[in-house]
Amino acid sequence: MAHDQLAFQNPVTRFPKIEPPKQDQPEPGLDAELQPKADHGEETYRGTGRLEGRKALITGGDSGIGASVAIAFAREGADVAIAYLPAEEKDAQRIADLITKEGKKAVALPTDISSPENSRKLVDDAVSQLGGLDILVNNAGKQIAQQSIEDITDEQWDETFKTNIYAMFWITKAALKHLKPGSSIINTTSVNAYLPSPTLLDYATTKGAINNFTKGLAQQLASKGIRVNAVAPGPFWTPLQVSDGQPKDELPKFGSQTPIGRAGQPTELAPAYVFLASSESSYVIGETLSVNGGMPTP
Ligand code: NAD
Ligand code: MG
Repeated sequence: MAHDQLAFQNPVTRFPKIEPPKQDQPEPGLDAELQPKADHGEETYRGTGRLEGRKALITGGDSGIGASVAIAFAREGADVAIAYLPAEEKDAQRIADLITKEGKKAVALPTDISSPENSRKLVDDAVSQLGGLDILVNNAGKQIAQQSIEDITDEQWDETFKTNIYAMFWITKAALKHLKPGSSIINTTSVNAYLPSPTLLDYATTKGAINNFTKGLAQQLASKGIRVNAVAPGPFWTPLQVSDGQPKDELPKFGSQTPIGRAGQPTELAPAYVFLASSESSYVIGETLSVNGGMPTP
């Protein structure tokens, strides 16, 4: 049995250095097809009752980072709704089963959030099926690498912005009327907000916007008792990277440039989201928590 996240252990060797083979999946990728498999804490994440009785909606909760957050939230005592694209049903059902195994309610909501109508319906469905809402994790994202600005079509630019930042606005606005004091909104940004990869011009621009949106909205909502924060991951091994998120040639060395020397596994992000969702972070507002293997950020 692998160690849980609370065990004393060397972070360098906690997970192996991976050298992923070149691989390609159509967008959106599936965790089920990823080589090597990613670790979402299925065998290891240990809950300590920090989100007892909460109701959470996690976009992109079927795979990668969102999946690890969904597992952790359920083990911390929350009912969890996950949103994902219809093509991701297989990944989503696996995570829904893990939530149910914890004795928690799992709500699966296949929804393309790149339109305002769908985004608003997603919130309505989550609230009605969970019986309320007090944690919103805006985590879904689109990332397609291109060598040059000339290779980014108007359609790609538009879809990346719709998925990453417009949907965050639509979903947050719709969720707000349901959130009571004590609720928490957590947005997934990226180290790309500070260190934009030249191959991710559209994506990195949305991540800068997410940071700014988080810090502005946090000030609006602080006095209402609703906290808004962000998590900025570095390189994490997820299906996003193999569905054109990275140039194929770069996959074998994915994550090796970090000071820790390896890519992150999604489960290593879950505690950051648990911390920001739970009341123990009551004075943490408008913060972007970097979880990136040591890359310096402002
Ligand atoms: P992932 O592919 O597992 O998750 C992304 C999810 O976004 C998909 O599962 C999909 O359900 C959802 N999604 C995409 N387009 C959608 C649409 N139109 N409608 C509804 N859902 C849609 O990959 P991940 O790496 O876990 O990504 C999660 C978040 O983390 C993203 O915002 C990504 O930008 C961010 N991030 C990832 C990394 C990394 O290295 N993996 C680094 C920094 C930030
Ligand atoms: Mg997915």
